Amino acid sequence: MTAKKTLKKYFGYDSFRDGQKELIDGIMAERDVLGIMPTGAGKSICFQIPALMMDGVVIVVSPLISLMKDQVHALNQAGIGAAFINSSLSDRQIYKALQNAANGLYKLVYVAPERLMTNGFLYFATKTKIPMVVVDEAHCISQWGNDFRPSYAEIPAFVAQLAHRPIVSAFTATATPRVRDDIIEKLALNKPMVTISGFDRPNLHFSIIKIGNKTSALLNFLEQRPKDAVGIVYCSTRKAVDEVRFVLFNEGYEVGRYHAGMGDDERRQSQEDFIYDRIKIMVATNAFGMGIDKSNVSFVVHYNMPKDIESYYQEAGRAGRDGTPANCLLLYTGKDSSTIRYFIEETDAMSTLDFVTRQEIKRQNFRRLEEIEGLCLTKDCLRGYILRYFGENPPENCGNCANCGAEFDEADITIEAQKIISCVARMRERFGIKMVVEVLMGVSNQKIRNFGLTELSTFGISQLSAIKLTEIVNHLISKGYLRKSDEQFSLLKLGKNYKGALQKDAKITMKTKSEIETTHHTPASYYAQAKRETVNKDVFDALKALRLQIATENRLPAFVVFSDATLVDMCKKMPQNMEQMLTVSGVGQVKAERYGKAFLEVILRFDGHTNK
Ligand code: ADP
Ligand code: ZN
Repeated sequence: MTAKKTLKKYFGYDSFRDGQKELIDGIMAERDVLGIMPTGAGKSICFQIPALMMDGVVIVVSPLISLMKDQVHALNQAGIGAAFINSSLSDRQIYKALQNAANGLYKLVYVAPERLMTNGFLYFATKTKIPMVVVDEAHCISQWGNDFRPSYAEIPAFVAQLAHRPIVSAFTATATPRVRDDIIEKLALNKPMVTISGFDRPNLHFSIIKIGNKTSALLNFLEQRPKDAVGIVYCSTRKAVDEVRFVLFNEGYEVGRYHAGMGDDERRQSQEDFIYDRIKIMVATNAFGMGIDKSNVSFVVHYNMPKDIESYYQEAGRAGRDGTPANCLLLYTGKDSSTIRYFIEETDAMSTLDFVTRQEIKRQNFRRLEEIEGLCLTKDCLRGYILRYFGENPPENCGNCANCGAEFDEADITIEAQKIISCVARMRERFGIKMVVEVLMGVSNQKIRNFGLTELSTFGISQLSAIKLTEIVNHLISKGYLRKSDEQFSLLKLGKNYKGALQKDAKITMKTKSEIETTHHTPASYYAQAKRETVNKDVFDALKALRLQIATENRLPAFVVFSDATLVDMCKKMPQNMEQMLTVSGVGQVKAERYGKAFLEVILRFDGHTNK
């Protein structure tokens, strides 16, 4: 069977997405591959389809128990034999699973990296035909990545133990060249085919608000969602998680929480409640979510700025996985930056690596922080900024982000910029933003007097407010006229372009929004949605109710039965018989046999009463 037919038969999809076909062809030509794809782009299919076409058992190394469990569930639903081996199973269960695998019951076995080199697993692996080892979340092998896991180092040793070297395929959503090269080297990939899929997720609407009162911004955002909208709110600390959860709970939302300070059982329960739609909103730290491929998440809010764009895009990418329109909102204040600076210093202080490596890692962490600060402050297209960060060359306007949707005035700020830059120079680059702004405004406090800064010619030279000056300073940083030093309490320094700003013919402009918008209420237009497909709501709700009933009976998450996108397509096509049912995107053969009839009955009940 061809790859395309396999896709249709098992997964019910008609065509491959960007990058999938190349990777599958590469693997089928027996090449090692490295697939770089953004979260939600559909990397699982790239190794699952070859697994179905190959002889033997494909081993998938995966870092997280929840990830394995969900994927194995979904595979089993599609009629594909698969199992996972991890610490949630008893020895007896592991033995049984490996025996089944050796007897050819499974096409894929998911395994945690720590388990690879154990006797039981090695015994199985050396006795069984293994055509491919898949390394999921492959950036975990690199200490230059954003999620280093030492246990990944066991993978090459494991591969070396096998009688026949299998194909090794690696997948990650991290695109930096350094991490990419490190993956190839550490996993000893053999002349791999490397593909980088488009990082764009067109169905995600991005907006970033710089705002002090985050609670009201969050509530305002939620009020504009449908009542049953499912989403995640990420906070940077456990304390913030508890506070935000409390606020939402009091407002009557069906909300749960997840962070590392909770007990194992409570966390597991909370995660299940979310997966099974018993709670609609999950408030969590970044401990939550890797491997959450719940496809009906319709928004992700970042209550705090994450530490880098990789983390942000991965977390935000958990929205809209099934391709339906979804919203990503980030709430930012300068305090978020200080928190991250503190974390970077703390991580560094606790590191056991050698000095040179430590310095390098710290420097990179500060670079990454600067990039995401730039994202929070830019007035340009947000999607464009993110995609450029991942090495793409996007159009100037995406038309589906807050900045593309907002009205800006282009203000000439040359004079103010020159005042600020010369003030930084006169203060000898030895102070932070706050002090520079105070000197510009002519604040005469004890500290400023002690340093003799009231004597400077730039003391009190500006008439602007502290907020406005800070905004301009940040703009000058984003354009390279100024920069922040790599320290916890960073100093404001001259940037590489500062000379250009001081020349006679210099002209520096900045987009500005009206003050009302940035400081007070957030206008509804911020959340302008990409157009949702219009389908008959009654039919859709009836199909959803049936899905929930089936899911509950089989003790499965609803989205594992069918995704929202599949239900939407069903409403559009209104299939009249089994043959037409099979043309619905996401309805493969096994699912059609299992559930097709029940869904057809619901649709036929409506037909005649509706003309969609
Ligand atoms: P990730 O790359 O984050 O691991 P997944 O493999 O979980 O993403 O896929 C995300 C979603 O996209 C899943 O619901 C999957 O079924 C769907 N998907 C993957 N490939 C296709 C395709 N070719 N056509 C339609 N939907 C697809
Ligand atoms: Zn845009």
